[in-house]
Amino acid sequence: AQDQLVRTEKLTSLGKLSASIAHEINNPLAGILTFAKLIVRTLDQGTPDEATRKVLVKNLLLVQRETERCSAIVRNLLDFARERPITLKDTDVNAVVDEGLQLLSNQIHIQNVTLEKRLGTVPPVLGDFGQLRQACVNVVMNACEAMGRGGRLSIETGLVEDGRWVELAFTDTGPGIPPDHLSKIFDPFFTTKERGTGLGLSVVYGIVERHGGRIEIQSEPGKGTRVAIRIPPKSDARAAGGKAQ
Ligand code: ADP
Ligand code: MG
Repeated sequence: AQDQLVRTEKLTSLGKLSASIAHEINNPLAGILTFAKLIVRTLDQGTPDEATRKVLVKNLLLVQRETERCSAIVRNLLDFARERPITLKDTDVNAVVDEGLQLLSNQIHIQNVTLEKRLGTVPPVLGDFGQLRQACVNVVMNACEAMGRGGRLSIETGLVEDGRWVELAFTDTGPGIPPDHLSKIFDPFFTTKERGTGLGLSVVYGIVERHGGRIEIQSEPGKGTRVAIRIPPKSDARAAGGKAQ
């Protein structure tokens, strides 16, 4: 009965999710179709003069941008929906953080973000390295996007609550999250960004859940945000509810 309840819940949310996906992809697709038609019609009228050529380039850029948007949505959905069982192995979260930061080093550099890294001595967790790295990347991306140019991002790892959790904490000096947004930020497609997909934190949530972990967000508007990912240490993975196979 328990299983069935969970399954019904999953199906209901799948229905809701499908509706939002359809909507999210349909908007950029409508734009692509409109501009593609416009471009065909213009080119059909003969060799474009210089002014027309400029308009064509502008329209094609819109097609490009909207296609990229669709592609970002699909990429994130694939992460989100990944049903394949995760491969749990001894994983060093400090290495996860280092690789995640490596992937974003360009962005961090361009935005002139000051990094403060304090990686503690932590036991391994039973985890999927690639997925945990993805979670880090998504959280760090959000921090960078929130801060714009020149903020400070501090990343700490350590054991907390008497060794119950290995914590990865990301603290930024961005604008923070308004209290009425806090309950929505993990919803698929909730975004406050013009070009956001709203899938980043949903993906993080799924990954952390599959590791038997927790996410805690503390945020004060005007001051910044702290996102803490907590994963049970390997020795404790079962006691904390992790699905070690
Ligand atoms: P996206 O980044 O595409 O908007 P996410 O799921 O990653 O989607 O984030 C959802 C929303 O949560 C963001 O649009 C933003 O409003 C808020 N958010 C997430 N992280 C932060 C942060 N570090 N600082 C401020 N707001 C944040
Ligand atoms: Mg994001």
